[in-house]
Amino acid sequence: MGKFKKILFQDVENPNESADGPITLRISALVMMIYLLIISVTLVMVHHVWWMAGNLLFVAIYGYLLYLTYENHTRTALILYNIVMLGAVCFNVMLIGWDSGLQHFLFTLVLLDLLFTYLSKWSQGVVVMGLCAARLGLYFFCREHGKIVQIDGACDIFLQVLTTVVVFVLLYLSGLMLSKDSQAVERKLMKYNNELQKAANTDTLTKLWNRHYLMHYMGKKVEHPDDFLSIAIGDIDFFKKVNDTYGHECGDEVLRTLANIFKKEMEGHGVAARWGGEEFIFLFEGANGDEAKILLAHLQNAVRKATITYGEVQLRVTMTFGLVEYDTKLRLDENISIADERLYIGKENGRDRIIY
Ligand code: GH3
Ligand code: MG
Ligand code: MG
Repeated sequence: MGKFKKILFQDVENPNESADGPITLRISALVMMIYLLIISVTLVMVHHVWWMAGNLLFVAIYGYLLYLTYENHTRTALILYNIVMLGAVCFNVMLIGWDSGLQHFLFTLVLLDLLFTYLSKWSQGVVVMGLCAARLGLYFFCREHGKIVQIDGACDIFLQVLTTVVVFVLLYLSGLMLSKDSQAVERKLMKYNNELQKAANTDTLTKLWNRHYLMHYMGKKVEHPDDFLSIAIGDIDFFKKVNDTYGHECGDEVLRTLANIFKKEMEGHGVAARWGGEEFIFLFEGANGDEAKILLAHLQNAVRKATITYGEVQLRVTMTFGLVEYDTKLRLDENISIADERLYIGKENGRDRIIY
């Protein structure tokens, strides 16, 4: 049983194709094969051997298209499924009459075809209209000619029940796959959107938040200030020299290493973001200026002590910081400007320091 399930649910090799379509096609073909075999046996019982032969031919075609779904010819299998279903419905309805209900199988085709993206909406519309026309044609044919084979009461009831059940099974199967498919696509889209959003807010080199996102984040924080906030801007000292001496790639490695230090140091205290170039901004949440200065000094020390390795090169850098305790009487950009001015003073006065 496990092996059978594995074969039935075997994926298609084409990576651009979802397995749901071929799997639905396989199960539907299998259900139809069993159904037509039962019909054939029923027809033998009422002595219509030639009609049985016709249905066995349809069973064989279903078997062939089942095989095609394993050979990566899903599109051909789908076309064949439509043709053979139309053939089997017309054949049997003409044979045992409109009351048999076999014409309802045409509805199952409408739903099944929607599962596949090969057809454009227009082509799908044309197929649906064609099926509608076939059903009407069949109705008028049956009105005109009646049924060819008379099936007795018990057999008739049996076929009616069987047909109804199989039609509902096929409708359910395609409907299930359709809703599953759209839910999966929706989940995929949501995940993709989240990833896009994250990418838009993240600096690609350092994986820290970028300036755009931090401004948005700080904007929200200062809207309802319920605790202290402190802001620091830090700039790597003589970073141009690092680039000039060891190359831009090495400079990038310095930025990455420092970003990891910032993440670790800021954990539980606030956030760090890349402000631009070799400048970073630090938001200390729930810390007044004095408390932030202690945390920042710890971070500054971690930067000083870090050995950055790039191939054979090992180097150390220092940073200068301007710190401000958020003044609610001033605007956010004014507070940031104060931190920036203090950073400048730090640079003027010899670097590797915190100005508060
Ligand atoms: P100071 O101590 O005054 O800050 O000196 P500095 O050399 O650090 O400052 P300056 O503004 O003269 O140079 C900053 C350098 O940072 C120049 C620029 O090429 C480099 N830089 C900016 N962004 C990146 C980056 O993403 N990667 C690398 N490798 N270098 C960068
Ligand atoms: Mg700079
Ligand atoms: Mg610098």
